[in-house]
Amino acid sequence: MTNIGFIGLGNMGSPMAANLIKAGHHVTGFDLSADALAAFKAIGGIPASSAIDAVIDADIVITMLPAGKHVDAVYCGEGGLLTAAKSGTLFLDSSTIDVETARKVASAAADANMLMMDTPVSGGVGAAIAGTLTFMCGGSDEAFAKAKPILDVVGGNIIHAGASGTGQAAKICNNMMLGIQMISVCEAFAMADALGLDRQKLYDISSKASGQCWSLTTYCPVPGPIPTTPANNDYEPGFATAMMLKDLRLAADAAKAVGVNTQIGQKAKELYEAMSEAGLDNKDFSAYFEFMSQK
Ligand code: NAD
Repeated sequence: MTNIGFIGLGNMGSPMAANLIKAGHHVTGFDLSADALAAFKAIGGIPASSAIDAVIDADIVITMLPAGKHVDAVYCGEGGLLTAAKSGTLFLDSSTIDVETARKVASAAADANMLMMDTPVSGGVGAAIAGTLTFMCGGSDEAFAKAKPILDVVGGNIIHAGASGTGQAAKICNNMMLGIQMISVCEAFAMADALGLDRQKLYDISSKASGQCWSLTTYCPVPGPIPTTPANNDYEPGFATAMMLKDLRLAADAAKAVGVNTQIGQKAKELYEAMSEAGLDNKDFSAYFEFMSQK
């Protein structure tokens, strides 16, 4: 049994904390939302009155917060976690944030004699509930060895990407591929419609040919070929357009900062921005198919 502090008990944090509790760990949690804290108590968690209270006795702390500014404030702001935890505590930030903030916070953690890894996830709420998330971990071998047994409880694939910040780098590179590929699949189905090619036939052929990718064979953006996808449920997320846009903005900022020309990634960001401006933030990102068909 490990004493775990958990900060950020939202859509992702709540099921992750639930799996840690089910596995017999002692989980003390905090969220700014009273509703989230009450739900956490109902599943057997120990609610704390502040973020600091949640980490004082922890051996490992997991944070699952919206964005880099929240992570920076919670760790390094006035009365931040790094000043409150005992020396040697392992911090795992599973939020999706920019590489620069991840490295800044990890460096502050090292200065405070703490261990820290960026451990963003892929898989969404379904995988968080099932305990099958993929974790992309950036930090030292020592931190990874200590983190792995706990992350095994909440994840299916735990991969050490390299030094601090490389977990976030992996996350934004992966999601840039995903965002681009989804648009390419939507465009191909729109072309098929216009050229008189049956959607199911395109699926049958391309899922066995060189166009095959996750956006086609796991998350097909048109109704029919895969009955469980958001396309068959009025594009309810799934993975919301707002989330994809957040990740593509992180990718675009990172590309600019390191001087890499990601033209198609940039274009994909603009296309999801157009969806967002059309009020589709809370629709699944595969709704790009409907969005482009209406224009
Ligand atoms: P969410 O908004 O549901 O949860 C975030 C929680 O953090 C909220 O409950 C909020 O009240 C809490 N919070 C914010 N500031 C806080 C503070 N200072 N102290 C304590 N609690 C605070 O978001 P989510 O969907 O759980 O996503 C969390 C992170 O995981 C994001 O970075 C997101 O990009 C990433 N992510 C989400 C998904 C997904 O499918 N939802 C998939 C992969 C990664």
